[in-house]
Amino acid sequence: MKKYHFKMMAGNANYALIEASRGCDHQCTFCSQWKHWKGKWRTKSPKRIADEMEHLYSEYGSNFLWLTDDNLGSGERIESLCDELIKRDMDDLMWFVQARSDDIIKNKDILPKMRKAGNYWIMAGLERHDTRTLKNFHKTIRTSDAKVSMDLLRENDIFAQATFIIGERQDSHESIEKLREFVNYTDPDLAIFMILTPFPGTKLYDIARANGWIEDTNWANYDMIHAIMPTENLSREEVQEELYKCYRSFYGNVKRRLKGLFSPNPLKGRVYRYMAGRGLLQALGGLF
Ligand code: SF4
Repeated sequence: MKKYHFKMMAGNANYALIEASRGCDHQCTFCSQWKHWKGKWRTKSPKRIADEMEHLYSEYGSNFLWLTDDNLGSGERIESLCDELIKRDMDDLMWFVQARSDDIIKNKDILPKMRKAGNYWIMAGLERHDTRTLKNFHKTIRTSDAKVSMDLLRENDIFAQATFIIGERQDSHESIEKLREFVNYTDPDLAIFMILTPFPGTKLYDIARANGWIEDTNWANYDMIHAIMPTENLSREEVQEELYKCYRSFYGNVKRRLKGLFSPNPLKGRVYRYMAGRGLLQALGGLF
């Protein structure tokens, strides 16, 4: 184990990043990660991950660990990791990871163990309300997985974050309104809305270039917040305004804010109070 590597990242910080795997074995058209890692998903063993987490925890006092994996995966490997963590004495350890909604469902029987092992927070790319767009994205999840996965996380007291994408080629005001309704129905604890962005190297970029969809070539704007492409029905400005509308719709909901602020889930409460303290809830609710 290379101690100096961790030292650079952690440096006696409560918060540290750790890689438990690299790449992904799926092939979503908008995603640069699987392309970057040449379509391979390479994982560390559960014992090695637990060793590294324990090292950060005991040597640097890092009790909040962000697993930077693009895709946690499912099954025996995850259960073994949790077993490894539970048998080590790290009572106040918390960790965050990204997972697919279908994998959360596959892992449903081990979610209690994940929570016991310190997994307090999961982010899932739910992306869309419509099967057609999920198919276009080559995102092989079902729209029905969204609500089921968020409910499962909540039932297990795991802070449920979700991401959604607007600006797909056929998007219109109506289709994005349907997405907003879907987000409210799915009801994640925290929602992030992103504009479909053609990152170079992705399949989406090749398609968008070939079709002349790209209107903004300033890489500084390739941040999933700026609209780079219009859709068949919306200008870039309209896509941009739709993004703000998504945030207003989600964070402008007073009941949701109150639920967040007074949540018994320690992370959810903390995140909402942090956002309120910095005026973020108000800013997101009234964006911009
Ligand atoms: S979006 Fe997620 S599931 Fe799809 S290829 Fe990228 S990392 Fe994998």
